[in-house]
Amino acid sequence: MTKSVVIIGAGLGGLSTALRLSYKGYKVTIVEKQSTPGGRLNILKQDGFTFDIGPSFFSMGYEFKELFQSIGEPIPFELNELDPLYTVNIAGSDRVFKIYKDLAKLAEEFRGLEDDFEAKAKKYLLGAKEIFHDTEYRIIKKNFNSILHFLASMATVPVKHLPKMFRTFWEELERHFDSEEVKIIFSLVAFFLGATPFNTPSVYNLLNYTELQHDGYWNVKGGMYKIVDGILGLLEKKGVEIKLNTEIVRVEQSNGAMKTAVSATGERFDADLFVVNADAAWFRGKFLNRPKFTPAKLDKLEWTLAPFTIYLGVKGKIDGIQHHNYFLGNNFRAYADTIFRSSVAPEKPYYYVNVASKSNPECAPEGCENLFILCPVPDLRVKPDWSDADKLVNEILEDLGERVGFDIKNNIITKVVYTPNEWEKMFNLYRGSGLGLAHGLNQIGAFRPSNKDEKLNNLYYVGASTTPGTGLPIVVIGSKLITERIENEHSAV
Ligand SMILES: Cc1cc2nc3c(=O)[nH]c(=O)nc-3n(C[C@H](O)[C@H](O)[C@H](O)COP(=O)(O)OP(=O)(O)OC[C@H]3O[C@@H](n4cnc5c(N)ncnc54)[C@H](O)[C@@H]3O)c2cc1C
Repeated sequence: MTKSVVIIGAGLGGLSTALRLSYKGYKVTIVEKQSTPGGRLNILKQDGFTFDIGPSFFSMGYEFKELFQSIGEPIPFELNELDPLYTVNIAGSDRVFKIYKDLAKLAEEFRGLEDDFEAKAKKYLLGAKEIFHDTEYRIIKKNFNSILHFLASMATVPVKHLPKMFRTFWEELERHFDSEEVKIIFSLVAFFLGATPFNTPSVYNLLNYTELQHDGYWNVKGGMYKIVDGILGLLEKKGVEIKLNTEIVRVEQSNGAMKTAVSATGERFDADLFVVNADAAWFRGKFLNRPKFTPAKLDKLEWTLAPFTIYLGVKGKIDGIQHHNYFLGNNFRAYADTIFRSSVAPEKPYYYVNVASKSNPECAPEGCENLFILCPVPDLRVKPDWSDADKLVNEILEDLGERVGFDIKNNIITKVVYTPNEWEKMFNLYRGSGLGLAHGLNQIGAFRPSNKDEKLNNLYYVGASTTPGTGLPIVVIGSKLITERIENEHSAV
């Protein structure tokens, strides 16, 4: 008989796993607590404006191509390569750095700041390239059954990369570049991993290779939610049922297997197999009472920063801003040192602004712009009270208005703010952490919560806090890994 699978959560991890499994013949049902599928890859519509609420671009676009190729379908949305990748504004400087993949063009951006930039960047990126390709199949795209298995795989990574384990991200940049601006810009990506460039191992410089040379950055024509729409169309074709507004609050198990997931209204979901797309660490503590994942233990783990997000519909066209923009202060090291542990909202915040209406005019009424502002802040362990959210909103809007030369505050048509509290509630994100568990060397591979449950033989995990990790393409890789495991252990019929 065809095996049934219940997937708890309709984030990208859950949806892409549903896609792979349903095309392999499993009978899939998805249960999602929110009223729309997509998880953090979601959409907000208000007063004629449309916003992507979370992800706005991604690297390794070929992972999406692989997903659809693997099921024999054409990719159901249009990928759009970013060029420039993004722009960076640093307080106190009137230069706006456009970050291009073309190193000759990028060298022009750093003219007068970094001599011989192109040659230095080529050398730096060569090291990053080698480590990416030497770990891609040994560490990232691999299932591990034990710590020993993981360590054995690590041991196959060429020994020349070993010194990179003992240097920080920043130290690696210092070996190649003199300019503070170059080092700051190239180290921004470290914050997505859940650490600062001053305490992240230098191996993660490989991310600069993935964005600057390997595959660049991509978004989706018409907005990021087209990814979800595209997947939903195919799931419908395969008869996958999605139960929205259905939160799982309890699970039942017997004889070493999960039997039933029970919703808040008492609806019962039985299946042969279960895949959890909710946070893999949190779920184990909350529903399976695993001693390793109690709140006290979870609080001791490293988590990525929490999002503080503002969605603004603005009257007028803002010329001084591009599609993807970082706005940084002029105290980078001090900021990095405090951002993970400060119990107050940052006074001179660093933030990212995405103006989707620059390339997708349908996201805003004519003559208007839609702005998505993301300010990474400490998670709810450190700053649980966000009753002062308005203060941070004001700081950001004043700063942004000044820096782009546009009176944003007096031209707002619509405004929505999500503090880490909202993010936690919406998607059960532990302590509001935006990207889930961090990626220090003690929280990757077999040291990360596994994608296969330790005790229940029919329970699997997919998504940001299990292997290989967070970010859209990585979660898609996670769906491939979990599908391989499931197929090996429980064939569809
Ligand atoms: C503000 C923000 C910006 C980001 N920007 C980018 C970016 O630009 N590029 C990029 O690559 N990544 C970005 N990310 C990270 C990216 O969004 C995540 O890595 C990815 O979306 C995680 O997908 P997931 O499937 O693991 O989890 P989720 O999207 O969180 O999906 C899990 C789903 O499970 C549901 N759920 C949880 N508990 C239950 C329950 N008990 N019962 C039923 N359903 C449940 C949740 O509601 C949710 O829908 C960003 C994240 C945030 C928050």
